[in-house]
Amino acid sequence: MDLASTPEEEEFRARLTEWLAGVLPALPPRPDPLDWPGRRAYDTGWQRRLYDAGYAQVHWDASPARRLIFLEETERAGAPYVGANFVGLLHAGPTIAAEGTAGQRDRWLEPVLRGDEVWCQGFSEPDAGSDLASLRTRAVRDGDAYVVTGAKIWTSHAEIADWCELLVRTDPDAPPHRGISWLAMPMDAPGITVRPLRTLAGSAEFAQLFLDGVRVPVANRVGAENDGWRVTMVTLSYERGTAFVGEVVACRRTLAEVARESRKNGSWDDPVLRRRLGALHAEFTALWRLIQWNVSEAGATGVPGVGGSVFKLRYSHARQDLYEAAAAVLGPDALDLDRPWSLDRLSSLSYTIAAGTSQIQRNIVAERILGLPKEPR
Ligand SMILES: Cc1cc2nc3c(=O)[nH]c(=O)nc-3n(C[C@H](O)[C@H](O)[C@H](O)COP(=O)(O)OP(=O)(O)OC[C@H]3O[C@@H](n4cnc5c(N)ncnc54)[C@H](O)[C@@H]3O)c2cc1C
Repeated sequence: MDLASTPEEEEFRARLTEWLAGVLPALPPRPDPLDWPGRRAYDTGWQRRLYDAGYAQVHWDASPARRLIFLEETERAGAPYVGANFVGLLHAGPTIAAEGTAGQRDRWLEPVLRGDEVWCQGFSEPDAGSDLASLRTRAVRDGDAYVVTGAKIWTSHAEIADWCELLVRTDPDAPPHRGISWLAMPMDAPGITVRPLRTLAGSAEFAQLFLDGVRVPVANRVGAENDGWRVTMVTLSYERGTAFVGEVVACRRTLAEVARESRKNGSWDDPVLRRRLGALHAEFTALWRLIQWNVSEAGATGVPGVGGSVFKLRYSHARQDLYEAAAAVLGPDALDLDRPWSLDRLSSLSYTIAAGTSQIQRNIVAERILGLPKEPR
């Protein structure tokens, strides 16, 4: 892995930095974090600016070094995060790019890059979370469509999404992993009910989906019928391996802000707190190295490897530790939800569950990286 920048990549960095310095001051203020329609408009608007300036593609097909430069510089400059474009840009899009037909790539990729279409992820069900292969939402062929019936849960951004990467059971008689298909479901199809779920932080960022005879064209299936589990592994590799990398850069910036606040309010005099912030600095530096590894591997092989589970595991805990340390620096003010970091602290609790729990990541690391015996089933 050689991540030393070439002169061409440094030129890319200089151009990007200059462009960011020009556009960021004119951006409208960020919407309230609980205003999802406002956030969609803001996030897709930013994506459109990236597209017009030629930077939208960088997550997908640029060199690993350029991707890392993009993340570093956008974060350093305080540019908006992918936000509502998370699923489309960072795991549904890459899955379609890797597994879709030419027609599917033509149909779905460009609108994601342009910020025209937002995606959500319909994988989990009330009785199928960690054991995803036990999902029961049925899809029955009727002519050139699947008729989909079932329920999904914890579907982030469902209320503002145009498309859903949906897992369905197309062969109920096959072993669990063999009867699943991966579909692109239009969220405006008749038969879809979206019921928002309110989180601890007050946001309705995810929802329950009820699917009652929803017709999804067979042409919207990505990968072969009943081969959806393999396609799902591609999606999850992107989700765990590279989708959160921009957030690590953001956490490093937050850590620097927390340290500055600590110096300002005197809590820095506490050696235990200082050591805690120092340990976090080391942890995020190590995570950044892991990201370089994952992004470089994805660049070389096309799809991030199983090492994404190591990253996901460490990152989820480091993020929680960061916001706990921020609360220690703020003291009682941390209970005020209008203070910086308070909402982030609440939402960080979900990170050891979302995209696969820490226990599941440990199982994957144990079985697929360390070669330990499989857990009894
Ligand atoms: C913020 C957030 C956003 C999410 N967004 C989406 C989304 O957009 N789309 C989507 O499809 N899903 C989404 N999810 C759902 C998420 O993927 C699931 O919650 C997660 O996979 C866990 O499944 P579960 O909730 O059914 O828990 P369960 O599977 O019931 O697990 C309960 C507990 O048992 C443990 N456990 C289960 N099996 C094992 C095992 N074999 N060994 C050891 N421990 C085990 C788990 O680790 C966990 O601690 C989101 C979740 C959160 C928190």
